[in-house]
Amino acid sequence: MTKHKAVFLDRDGVLNVERGDYTYLPEDFVLEYKVPEAVALLKQNNFLLIVVTNQGGLAKKLFTRAQMLACHSKLQQNCNNLIDAIYYAPAHPSVSASLARKPDSLMLEKALAKFNINPEASWLVGDQLRDMHAAEKVQVKGILVGPHPPGTYIMQVTNLWEATQIILNQA
Ligand SMILES: [Mg+2]
Repeated sequence: MTKHKAVFLDRDGVLNVERGDYTYLPEDFVLEYKVPEAVALLKQNNFLLIVVTNQGGLAKKLFTRAQMLACHSKLQQNCNNLIDAIYYAPAHPSVSASLARKPDSLMLEKALAKFNINPEASWLVGDQLRDMHAAEKVQVKGILVGPHPPGTYIMQVTNLWEATQIILNQA
């Protein structure tokens, strides 16, 4: 069976605006620049779209799963339900260890297996180096987005829309 290709998407700072604090209320969950357009374009080009997000606020009991899921519903509604799966790591090192939480790669490994994805044809877009390190562990190419000084990572652009252009140019 032919393997699929995917774009793994970090959530806060990539899909929705990073507020510098935990985002768990739908009214605070504001999409980043041209996210619905980027998602639609990647999907047209046959990429699976898989969110991989650390949500350590769950372990710290700062918000509930229901609040997080309401944010994910808003995300899907705004993206025409084009996101194939949303993996979240509820652990936080102050409460318990977890191999799912980035920079570890268990969320990625689960998705690679479940959806029969070729990691070398796949990408991860994230706004922190721990996202890049999770991608590197499974041979997925990382693109760093957000306000970082030049040279922070091998591949870096401003936002998901720009990352999408890189991905489509190299696919
Ligand atoms: Mg992030």
